[in-house]
Amino acid sequence: MPGYTCAFRGCHSKTGGGLALFAFPKDQTGAKLWLQACCRTDLMSKTAEQLYSNYKLCELHFEDKCYSVGASRKCLLPNAHPTLFPSAIKRPCVEQDLEEAPPKKTLNRITIF
Ligand SMILES: [Zn+2]
Repeated sequence: MPGYTCAFRGCHSKTGGGLALFAFPKDQTGAKLWLQACCRTDLMSKTAEQLYSNYKLCELHFEDKCYSVGASRKCLLPNAHPTLFPSAIKRPCVEQDLEEAPPKKTLNRITIF
């Protein structure tokens, strides 16, 4: 069984570490919502199938009501959405957004083309 690390940057949960890791939704819309929630917009070009088989989020990012606890493992409920991301870790993502936002120098734009 391959090991997985939580897809959220700055979170180091991995399989075997005692926390449950949940696969991304199989549907494209749900998977994209997860990516936005965990600031992994760099993975937006991947298909839902790729995300489902290669990326996971750990239980730390889901409220208790998002999963049911079975006898041996936790199961994510349908349409569960990750909402718990520590703002301290999330900051790099915000900075990245700000960098992209205002095109200040037209010179830079010209060199791109
Ligand atoms: Zn995590």
